[in-house]
Amino acid sequence: MSKIVTRFAPSPTGYIHIGNVRSAIYPYLLAKQAGENGKFILRIEDTDQARYVAGATDLILDTLKWLGISWDEGPEAGGENGPYFQTERKSIYLDWAKKLIKQGKAYADPTDPETIEKYRKEDNEKKIPYLYRNHRPDNTPEWQEGMPIRFKADPKPRDWHDEVMGDLHAGPEVQDDIILIKKDGLPTYNFAHIIDDYLMGCTHVMRGVEYLPSTPNYLALYETLGIEMPKIVSLPHILRPDGRKKLGKRDGAKSVTEYREDGVLPEAMLNYLTCLGWNDGTEQEIYPKDELIKKFSLDRIQNSGARYDETKLLWMNGQWIRKIFTEEGVDVLYQKTLDFWPESAMNYKEEYRKEVLSIIYDRLKELSELPSMTSYFFEDPNINPEMILNNKFLKKLSEQELADLLKLSIEKLSDTEWTEDVIQDTLNQLLEQTGKKPAELFSLIRIAVSFAPFSPALNLTLKVLGKDRSLARLNATKNALINDLQ
Ligand code: GLU
Repeated sequence: MSKIVTRFAPSPTGYIHIGNVRSAIYPYLLAKQAGENGKFILRIEDTDQARYVAGATDLILDTLKWLGISWDEGPEAGGENGPYFQTERKSIYLDWAKKLIKQGKAYADPTDPETIEKYRKEDNEKKIPYLYRNHRPDNTPEWQEGMPIRFKADPKPRDWHDEVMGDLHAGPEVQDDIILIKKDGLPTYNFAHIIDDYLMGCTHVMRGVEYLPSTPNYLALYETLGIEMPKIVSLPHILRPDGRKKLGKRDGAKSVTEYREDGVLPEAMLNYLTCLGWNDGTEQEIYPKDELIKKFSLDRIQNSGARYDETKLLWMNGQWIRKIFTEEGVDVLYQKTLDFWPESAMNYKEEYRKEVLSIIYDRLKELSELPSMTSYFFEDPNINPEMILNNKFLKKLSEQELADLLKLSIEKLSDTEWTEDVIQDTLNQLLEQTGKKPAELFSLIRIAVSFAPFSPALNLTLKVLGKDRSLARLNATKNALINDLQ
């Protein structure tokens, strides 16, 4: 098997969009699939000082670790091709650019920004496409610090193959004298990535499709530098849920950090993002990481935009919560919930929190729902008779009737042995005795002990709450209803 070297090359600009993360997952999967012959490199593209955000690199590393994406070479890991921060590789790019100047393939550009702006305006007024090569200065000076270096374009028709987009063609009109080294001495993305991918031995360049229009310029650079072009894998856009535009910050998708804080599990995030624009040709939706590594393939990456669907992500998270509970047990799931319990839960033993988790896990979509779904297990709820009186099943019963039903339930439950099954028997007997429907009697008891919009099966709720507490709450609610009557 031939070597596969892929890379993720984020810019540390702060916010981690889910699209950025998908651009890390795909190359990771491809490299891991190759086993010993695969390598996944993390390179930090920090040459755009204007967009640089302090702490952003740590956020990237932390997010990848959280997702379970490890890199073979890069920051922290080190490796034979370092350094892995582009700002630390400044002299490498400059050397390559100077070599091109010597060969007459690049030039130091003395033109000031005002003149460049003037060219642009003039071309706009003449309604001709602005191309810097049409304004290339006749005489170019020796390069000195503070001067940009530009590529001397060699415009001609170009054909290339993209692993996702297929065979592509571009005319000479899109090729220009692109900047290689900026005024500040740092390289542009356009130049740096080509040098780095080459020096780091990357066999595949997997990145967002937004780089497609610039690819003819990259082809010219590969050719001039005598570098073999790696395989280009353009990943389709992630679209807004309505499918009409590229998903942006303001379109409702949170950053990965926010989803993480809301209790989306890394397993679900990895699974969801991999399947956003890729499928294995079956209906399967839930994939653990090792299965994704086995099944991932470039030829099943779709070439049209993939619609982002948060509801699906949360559904998948719910599926993962269940999967972990049923396959790995409550202890493993519990470890993932530690940051999400309501404060009052900390007054109880871990075993009790696990018991609560065991009866509510299958309703969870995000772990941040834990406080609202479980607080009544840890603190007495506020008694709110309105919630009973307005309940759709209880509306037709009078307050007196409701209080009587509670009274009878208390009597019966007081004589009940507190196990799941015996509690259920008592509840069934109460149904028979009162002639009420389960929706009526059970809703009443459920609300009376929890005052929550949902709760698990009633016998389980009562069991976990405990006998004394259940009876005390039923009593308190009954008294509130009676007080209301007086
Ligand atoms: N630094 C570029 C970005 O964050 C990386 C593009 C690439 O993967 O080559 O968009």
